[in-house]
Amino acid sequence: MKRRTFINQTIKVSSVIGLSSVVNPTIWQKSYDKHITILHTNDVHSHIDPFPNNHRKFPNRGGVSRRYNLIQQIKAENPNTLLLDAGDAFQGTPYFNFYGGELEYKLMSKMGYQASTIGNHEFDNGIDNITAQLQHAKFDLLNANYDLSNTSLDGLVKPYQIYEVDGISIGVFGLGIELEGLVSKNLYGETKYINPIEIAQDQVKILKQDHQCDLVICLSHLGYQYQSDKISDIQLAKSTKDIDLIIGGHTHTFLDQPSKVVNQAGKITLINQVGWAGLNLGRMDFYFNKINGKGVKDVVIEV
Ligand SMILES: [Zn+2]
Repeated sequence: MKRRTFINQTIKVSSVIGLSSVVNPTIWQKSYDKHITILHTNDVHSHIDPFPNNHRKFPNRGGVSRRYNLIQQIKAENPNTLLLDAGDAFQGTPYFNFYGGELEYKLMSKMGYQASTIGNHEFDNGIDNITAQLQHAKFDLLNANYDLSNTSLDGLVKPYQIYEVDGISIGVFGLGIELEGLVSKNLYGETKYINPIEIAQDQVKILKQDHQCDLVICLSHLGYQYQSDKISDIQLAKSTKDIDLIIGGHTHTFLDQPSKVVNQAGKITLINQVGWAGLNLGRMDFYFNKINGKGVKDVVIEV
């Protein structure tokens, strides 16, 4: 099952609303050996309740309980599902002000998240608060480009984790944004930022070459794209190879479909980001075939 070639076979399924949106993979059923579903969020920002009915832009949309039901339905259809988040779970509603992130991490654990990464807003109550809240997290907090060795998070945050799902090895690593100028120093303390592109290349080498992962996913809180030369997901994708999927965050970008960027190996790296506030749930279905390699089908589900 190792060393497949990537098949640039992306099928767009248009965004649809609610529970009926679950993609039926029947058309693929005869042509694949393995099917992995990746579900993802970013920048949920403490939006536990749906937006109010009279909200101007998002009336009665989002909310943890609806997202939980969707996740359960998708998992019932395909138990081989990973649930990932790209950071900034904290800050945005009074839930954070009262509970400091405890509720966010407890609910993410209940929903069955396997991994998240550290967004800049995770530092809003100080780095020691992240350490304290981690006791409520039954998922991995992944970051590879913050040197945390002189902080209370030392040893609690892994650079990457490999998830074995139905015999498929999925390597996931995390990247965080430069904190200087974005978060005050007294909040991030001795956290040292390291260039994420260099780190990404090291991580991919470990995951792809040493561990022979079938799928490599980056949880990035770098942001989708900037006018300036600030490091973004687009730059990351262009400057590296062997990342299959970047699940992005920070810029609250609503993509209708994943961006396809030609990477250093001349292959496609996918980038997806689903806005913010838990309004959407990203879904990517990867199909693995012993003979033909892998294909991917994507959809964004409104919650
Ligand atoms: Zn952010």
